Amino acid sequence: MEKNKIIEVRNLVKKYGEFAAVKGISFDVYEHEIFGLLGPNGAGKSTTLEIIETLREKTEGQVTVGGFDLDTAPNDIKKIIGVQLQSSGYYPGLNLVELIEMFGGLYNQPVQPIELLRLFNLEDKAKAKYKELSGGQKQRFSIATTLINKPRIIFLDEPTTGLDPQARRNLWDLILQVRAQGTTVVITTHYMDEAEFLCDRCAIVDSGQVIAIDSPDALIDNLVSKGFERSKEVKKANLEDVFIHLTGKDLRES
Ligand code: ADP
Repeated sequence: MEKNKIIEVRNLVKKYGEFAAVKGISFDVYEHEIFGLLGPNGAGKSTTLEIIETLREKTEGQVTVGGFDLDTAPNDIKKIIGVQLQSSGYYPGLNLVELIEMFGGLYNQPVQPIELLRLFNLEDKAKAKYKELSGGQKQRFSIATTLINKPRIIFLDEPTTGLDPQARRNLWDLILQVRAQGTTVVITTHYMDEAEFLCDRCAIVDSGQVIAIDSPDALIDNLVSKGFERSKEVKKANLEDVFIHLTGKDLRES
């Protein structure tokens, strides 16, 4: 079956003055996949994502999202994407339901706040303020808000940074659930176990260039085929397994 390209990036260049932060990046994202952008700090991931999200001007190259050209139809792109807002956008006086209603108003979209909160296990926080939430709950709410305009693609920037192991796993399940409902997900992360678990394909970006792009499995097989072996024999469990085994599998925040 021919896969449908929902994002096409061709020879993307971004210069800040003389400095080229993105040096001719090309990649495609297919509809319904979870696509990861991986790479060290400063590699150019955020710059690339923000250009695709219409939040930053590019210097050169072509970008289409959902068939819309970034140069000629940025407003059409805005309508079909969901982005995480900076937490400073969450008015401190409003509770979660009121925030969702406000964003729905901004997007001119009817919203069902309780249903959205239920999907993200936040129903009992409906009347809470954002600042009263735990780290995991904040992240879940932030991802929930990306869905308010019923986008075809959502962009998640390091969604599990700073979370405990249970909350990270809980978020992984939610991201899989969002994808199962037909949404394409583009994610950045510094956790390679997360990328391995979630991503159908990932691009590894370094110094403004894509240096590898494939499924996690194929990238690993490729390294192994070159004779790579881990220096230490791997045990049947790791410290994270110990942590989860001892503290329980469930989310415990409240
Ligand atoms: P990443 O998301 O992979 O950490 P960024 O896209 O944030 O990388 O940054 C890529 C490079 O561009 C870095 O060297 C960063 O310092 C530089 N950069 C990012 N934003 C700006 C800006 N507004 N002005 C100048 N340089 C910037």
